[in-house]
Amino acid sequence: PTPAAAPNRLTITGAGLVGSLLALYLARRGYSVDVYERRPDPRRAGADSGRSINLALSDRGWRALEGVGIAEAVREVAIPMYGRVMHDAHGNLSQQPYGQPGQGIYSVSRGGLNRRLLELAEAEAGVRLFFGQQCLDVNLRQQELHLRDIETGQELHQPYQHLFGTDGAFSAVRSALQRTERFDYSQSYLEYGYKELTIAAAPDGGWVLEKHALHIWPRGSYMMIALPNLDGTFTCTLFFPFEGADSFASLQTPADVTEFFGRVFPDALPLMPELTDDFFHNPTSSLVTVKCFPWSLEGEALLLGDAAHAIVPFYGQGMNAGFEDCTVLDELMERHGADWQTVFREFQQLRKPNTDAVADLAVYNFVEMRDKVADPRFLLQKKIEGKISAQYPGQWTSLYSQVTFSHRPYAEAWANGQRQDAIMARLMKHIDTEADYDRPEVQAMVGKELERAG
Ligand code: FAD
Repeated sequence: PTPAAAPNRLTITGAGLVGSLLALYLARRGYSVDVYERRPDPRRAGADSGRSINLALSDRGWRALEGVGIAEAVREVAIPMYGRVMHDAHGNLSQQPYGQPGQGIYSVSRGGLNRRLLELAEAEAGVRLFFGQQCLDVNLRQQELHLRDIETGQELHQPYQHLFGTDGAFSAVRSALQRTERFDYSQSYLEYGYKELTIAAAPDGGWVLEKHALHIWPRGSYMMIALPNLDGTFTCTLFFPFEGADSFASLQTPADVTEFFGRVFPDALPLMPELTDDFFHNPTSSLVTVKCFPWSLEGEALLLGDAAHAIVPFYGQGMNAGFEDCTVLDELMERHGADWQTVFREFQQLRKPNTDAVADLAVYNFVEMRDKVADPRFLLQKKIEGKISAQYPGQWTSLYSQVTFSHRPYAEAWANGQRQDAIMARLMKHIDTEADYDRPEVQAMVGKELERAG
């Protein structure tokens, strides 16, 4: 660490997905950047657990990667998923496209993406990465980080001029801000936890399920999902109650787990040879939403990514929203230069309503994924929506597409989606089959609704 904070030196805590991308954006604007990260360097052999964990990247994330010129390189190691494939309790499959033909979300390796961003950041002039450095606290008045070296236990105080807190859902920077005057803060946990499991590759290294899809086993009050990896495996995530009849608490032995999976996910069980090992070795993690405000203190400190707005994962938007933070911050730096006070103030004003909206959308989508996608009426409604959007191009874009395949602010997408939901509720009273859509009275209603919606 440096002895003192130089004037155009910026400091970041947390080199996760958002912190490593942010370092690149700041360095490209000519700043020297120091990044302090608690974990060891993930690029060193043996640094991660060896589990492949993936996540879905969509348009907002792609735009942010394009902004630093790395979208094409990431696309080469990403797997497009064009729709959902639902697996019912008898192993029957049904499908639902995500958007227009060719539109998809992309499965990327979390570790791979993070390592790539770190490599690029380090290659960039002026970015220095300090691993194994945990931020214990921040003295906001004296503008000093209190750091601890994870290996030696040595503690030190590091001055900063401008601090960017991208240290995730349990941010130490946010904890310091929480002790300032009139700071609003809330966190809420779902009664569900999650556990990552694996579907094995075929003997020839291929994929045993449709590769270009996100698989869902919706079971009403819980679900499992699976996203493809490049090595032929799928990373599954079981979202499951902590307590109750079917819950993490009720599955205590390998026999319990095998019996349960055989009963509720019968087509998946034979594809999961490591199931019981995974189940008892991988952690059961919790799902939290964090909302807070303000995200900044003067022009001196700013929260971004999960540190500012942690959301539950059901819209696949947490990282995408954090990446969009980088795009928006970069636009404000373009406009206001190094007037950090203005940049930080406008940033939080612009982003707060939108990240609140995506937090609510994410909770809403949990119900859709675990329950509604198994309901034929819901799937019929989605088909009818597809027909409306084909018949009235530009006038009807599904909520999912507005969130996933557009850059429309999340708050606008959410408000629009709620209006569309109300319209669909009225229309669906007159529709029992796909063919009903073409009935003259239904056509007239659709026309009138769209005219009214303007
Ligand atoms: P993080 O990725 O959490 O990084 C924070 C970094 O800060 C870490 O490296 C951590 O070690 C470090 N750190 C923490 N505390 C300290 C400290 N005190 N001092 C120094 N360093 C510290 N999003 C999507 O867009 N699509 C998806 O499909 C998706 N799926 C998800 C599935 C699950 C199960 C979960 C839980 C989340 C998912 N997300 C998804 C959300 C996504 O993971 C997060 O939004 C994203 O990782 C946020 O990035 P971040 O850099 O803000 O925080």
